[in-house]
Amino acid sequence: MNAVTDATAVDWARVRADFPLLTREVHGKPLVYFDSANTGQKPEAVIEAVDDFYRRHNANVSRAVHALGTEATEAYEAARAKLARFLNVRADELVLCSGTTFALNLVAYSWALPRLRPGDAIVVSRMEHHANIVPWQLVAERTGATLKVAELDERGDLDLERLYALLTPEVRLLAVAHVSNVLGTVNPVREICREARRRGIVTVVDGSQAAPHRALDVAAIGCDFYAITGHKMCGPTGTGALWARREHLAAMPPFLGGGEMIKEVRFEGTVYNEPPHKFEAGTPNIAGFVGLGAAVDYLSALGMAHVEARERELLAHFNEALAAVEGVRVFGAPREKAAVVSFLVEGAHAHDLATLLDLEGVAIRSGHHCAHPLMQHFGVPATCRASLAFYNTHEEIDAFVAALRKVRRLLA
Ligand code: PLP
Repeated sequence: MNAVTDATAVDWARVRADFPLLTREVHGKPLVYFDSANTGQKPEAVIEAVDDFYRRHNANVSRAVHALGTEATEAYEAARAKLARFLNVRADELVLCSGTTFALNLVAYSWALPRLRPGDAIVVSRMEHHANIVPWQLVAERTGATLKVAELDERGDLDLERLYALLTPEVRLLAVAHVSNVLGTVNPVREICREARRRGIVTVVDGSQAAPHRALDVAAIGCDFYAITGHKMCGPTGTGALWARREHLAAMPPFLGGGEMIKEVRFEGTVYNEPPHKFEAGTPNIAGFVGLGAAVDYLSALGMAHVEARERELLAHFNEALAAVEGVRVFGAPREKAAVVSFLVEGAHAHDLATLLDLEGVAIRSGHHCAHPLMQHFGVPATCRASLAFYNTHEEIDAFVAALRKVRRLLA
């Protein structure tokens, strides 16, 4: 199946109609939502699933024996099972949590903190989101380990030769994004994890920007940890997951203590629950996960190959249209790229551009995108970022470019 055939197999206008928010106007103009890397919009099926949970099934999980308690527990565990299938991992290796930030901190505090020693090193790439930098800095500060940075080449791809040269014997952990939230770079994580594994280095992959856009086979990547966030993949905010190899989950101490994560509590000593529950202290975002389960159903029915093909087609159009606008600087031209484009317009500040585009109904993000080190690499404090999803349209790209031309004239 080639990508073009895939994209045309779906009625994208009908798909778009599943997203109620996309019909609204902003400042009297039809909304053009190009900020899906920030958070994705939600289809009716997800909104209804959350609504139905609160209307008909609401109860706490894993506690009450009454019917509603059982329904809530089953719905929560069903979401875990769906997500596990979506990622091609085992459900009992999938810790449900509030998102990638939590997931990465769980690895930092529970795996890295007790293990790292002075003289050890952690490698992160320059294109990481702060969520995949700061937890490792905190671990390094507290353990005496050092942080090493894998740099990019001129295209915005990871310089793999230099990365592998960094993987010296003192490196214990490598943390890398699957897809960059700023450049859209799709990193060859399978190859990277293979190289790390050969050297006995544990790998953490930040899949926040991959899960919404690519069919994932986490088991095949060969990493040790894989983090995702639900709100970027059509699910509710405050949902996400960490997949980890079973041996790691078994060996890691709990991160947070409380209800649900125990088997028995005695003042003489507490017996913890089995993974993944050992890492899920307290009442989880039950309705949120029911919504995420519906989001996974939605994406699975659509087919991630179709999603990827559609977004490739939109990206090609977007790149071509943007290239025709004078004075635009696009950041990065990676070999494999998701539909995320960072750019600046000559003489205009990113925030001014985004504010004026908003008045035209166009929602993009401006700023550092939680990636200060990447901004430093490019020598700019901020960029504008347009990030597309399968529910966007070719007409929206044309509307965006018309608005950009207008704004450029205003700022000239
Ligand atoms: N990693 C990447 C690459 C991201 O794009 C984001 C969100 O912007 C995160 C991590 C953090 O995700 P969350 O805020 O949902 O925990």
